[in-house]
Amino acid sequence: MTLIEQINSLLPQTQCTRCSYQGCKPYAEAIANNEADINQCPPAGDKGIQALADLLDKPFKPLNPEFGEYQTPSVAIVIEEDCIGCAKCLDACPVDAILGASKVMHTVIASECTGCELCIPPCPVDCIVMEKTELEYSPVLAKQRYEAKQQRLIRLQAEKVEKSKKQKEKLMAMMKAKAAAKRA
Ligand code: SF4
Ligand code: SF4
Ligand code: SF4
Repeated sequence: MTLIEQINSLLPQTQCTRCSYQGCKPYAEAIANNEADINQCPPAGDKGIQALADLLDKPFKPLNPEFGEYQTPSVAIVIEEDCIGCAKCLDACPVDAILGASKVMHTVIASECTGCELCIPPCPVDCIVMEKTELEYSPVLAKQRYEAKQQRLIRLQAEKVEKSKKQKEKLMAMMKAKAAAKRA
């Protein structure tokens, strides 16, 4: 395992971006490259910072409050009677913990929710609230779900590019045929 992977394996895998990086792996890369300190991840709390300090043989530092405060575990709950089924929260959830489709009421799979809160800002009717929980999500599973979602998004983007390329080729062929017909 590379140093980046070892650091990443100690991070909570919520992908919440509170560390100021676009997810846990970019923060792990920044720590490995000495570009970020070990105390920038609020969800990790003191326990997580200590684990990073042990791995990197560095002294423990308390969480830097610039990046937020440690909060006890929480999960997102959709107030179902207020949900308009716009599906905006689906895209925002890094671990696909929300079930629903367009125009259908949405719900959160509590055991898969990491409490990252990323689904709250996109909700146009403010019907997602956070509640304290005793449930402990699995960072290993959260990482797998996040990576699976990233792969799916890459595949969808590639399909979109391919479709647009084919449409362009079709249009060019039609224009060429039209020009040839005019010349004839
Ligand atoms: S869980 Fe920690 S490392 Fe991961 S994105 Fe959030 S703050 Fe950054
Ligand atoms: S449901 Fe909301 S809080 Fe829970 S993991 Fe998804 S985006 Fe984060
Ligand atoms: S963003 Fe809010 S209103 Fe839209 S589907 Fe999600 S929970 Fe429902």
